[in-house]
Amino acid sequence: MVDGGWRCGILTTNMSECINGVPKGPRRLPVSALVEITLEHIVHYFRVRAIKGHKILQNNQLWTDFACKMFISWQQKAVEHTVMKYNHSQQSASVVTRRQNGHGMNTHVVKIANRECSCGKWNQFGIPCSHAQKVCGAYNISVASMVKDYYDLMAHYNTYSKHFEPV
Ligand SMILES: [Zn+2]
Repeated sequence: MVDGGWRCGILTTNMSECINGVPKGPRRLPVSALVEITLEHIVHYFRVRAIKGHKILQNNQLWTDFACKMFISWQQKAVEHTVMKYNHSQQSASVVTRRQNGHGMNTHVVKIANRECSCGKWNQFGIPCSHAQKVCGAYNISVASMVKDYYDLMAHYNTYSKHFEPV
């Protein structure tokens, strides 16, 4: 999604901290040693995820553990929401959350065609939030088809099953 330099409504990420964390120990080593250690970390990282991905594939799970956990959590929340207004031509609706412990009664606008909800979670995570799941149910749309492809287990497995050449 292109949104003026932003990605999913977020202008910056903490990627530099992630990359900076890998060579934390060998920071003072010569560059060649630093590159070797970084490669070792990456190979280990990919190997662990490939093994885990292979195990999950055998369980006939649709998405990664993260995506499944988020999807199910929001699916359970969706039961408590109410769809208030419909716009059938745009497959959009407003959703009101249930009042609970002095919180709730929030209204969110879901636009299925744009794959967005005013709460921002669908856009940010690529997984339909509880509001979007409720609206998909109201329109009889398969909510599973709305999850981003990069959570697909085969995509995950194909990403991490690559082999590295020795340096
Ligand atoms: Zn939402």
